Amino acid sequence: MRAASPELLDEVTSEARRRVGEGRCAAYIPALAGADPSLAGLALVERGESGDPREFASGDADARFTMQSVSKAFALACALETRGAEAVFSRVGVEPSGDAFNSIVRLETSARRKPFNPMINAGAIATTSLLPGEDAQARVRLLARFIGSMTGEEPRVDDGVYRSERDTAARNRSIAWMLKELGLLDGDVEEALDAYFMQCALRTSARELARAGACFAFDGERADGVRVMRPESARVTKALMCLCGLYDGSGAFAVAAGVPAKSGVGGGIMAASRGRAGIGAFGPALDAQGNSVFGTRALSALAERLDLFSY
Ligand code: GLN
Repeated sequence: MRAASPELLDEVTSEARRRVGEGRCAAYIPALAGADPSLAGLALVERGESGDPREFASGDADARFTMQSVSKAFALACALETRGAEAVFSRVGVEPSGDAFNSIVRLETSARRKPFNPMINAGAIATTSLLPGEDAQARVRLLARFIGSMTGEEPRVDDGVYRSERDTAARNRSIAWMLKELGLLDGDVEEALDAYFMQCALRTSARELARAGACFAFDGERADGVRVMRPESARVTKALMCLCGLYDGSGAFAVAAGVPAKSGVGGGIMAASRGRAGIGAFGPALDAQGNSVFGTRALSALAERLDLFSY
């Protein structure tokens, strides 16, 4: 087994980068379509032997992009922290759906009559609506503060991406109205959507995702030992990341990379190897399920070379 090193990250980055031609940038949100598909960044955060954090980064690890669905893991953890598991899971299930992230079909056909899990759009819109705050801005501010406590940098909303999604989101709008009809959204539907679009447009980097991933890996503590959430919130979020963090690609990713992870159509993936490391990857070219081609390859290679498998 090898230890993490700058050389190893460079090696994995240049290998995985060769595959990015297999993917395409998300285009259904117009502002994402223009991303440079050749970008590729990787970062890993671990605890050194003396307990101090050690950070490794390669390629475009500091390039900024929007979290998109990676924010769903943070929203879940934040809702668990502030509202508790009972409130969250009365509105959202904990089972993989096997459907695309933006699927609406089971809201109508499933006897459950609630979203399958907090990692698909339907579940995330319901989860975010539970965050405390008098309006969408306040909820997203709370979430950004929570994320900032993990990464050291409070993320900001990318206004262009936020507006671009808000103005084209017919499908998410349909999902939200369906949730309203099912009694799973309190308050105004547009307000709930607004908070969701803003959280998706929060800017991040592979390095920041690695730092945040470490908080899940170390059961709610940052790599430097500061606690940012209860162990239970980290554990439950990781369970859902492993079951449905990569949508209908979650099974294949679990087999290949063996670590809980959450992806987003901005091209980011955050992963957490328990007790070992947080990893952040970024490459905007996506596979058919909406997962970063670079990110899934790089994480699989890194997990294998460092034996980061959690299962
Ligand atoms: N904002 C995006 C959407 O709702 C997030 C989807 C994703 O990253 N998979 O469609």
